[in-house]
Amino acid sequence: MSDDCIFCAIADGEIPARTVHETDDAVAFLDANPLAPGHTLVIPKTHAERVGDLDADLASAVFDVVSEITPAVEAAVDADGANVGINDGEAAGQEVPHVHVHVVPRFDGDGGAPIHAVAGERPDLADEELDAIATDVSAAIDG
Ligand code: AMP
Ligand code: ZN
Repeated sequence: MSDDCIFCAIADGEIPARTVHETDDAVAFLDANPLAPGHTLVIPKTHAERVGDLDADLASAVFDVVSEITPAVEAAVDADGANVGINDGEAAGQEVPHVHVHVVPRFDGDGGAPIHAVAGERPDLADEELDAIATDVSAAIDG
């Protein structure tokens, strides 16, 4: 529990939420300001701010709930699909600093956009630049 964290307070039952599913390590509840009917958030019960702060067990526990609830949410609201995503960090639009997975139901012709629409202008990267980025990411993981 992190003091003043609204999602820790939801996980601890201190503030109400429309919980749809719960396991020992994760909880799913309806977003209070939904982008679509059925918009659901999945959080780890213990505080972690960023995706990289999740250890493997907690990441697995969160994604287990994501994979279980996504088809259930789609069925409940008769959706045709869903976007599943995380805003990781303020630059990416994260407002609540407790990692949470958005499950946003989508409907044919709803006027929304794919996840490709979240970033700014697309960079025009040469093959050598892509190679260098791949090398740098690998090095950052190994290092
Ligand atoms: P993000 O911008 O990724 O941090 O998204 C935070 C999300 O949490 C928003 O979609 C909010 O509508 C949602 N939210 C904030 N407070 C609550 C709350 N008390 N219960 C349910 N959803 C919340
Ligand atoms: Zn928290």
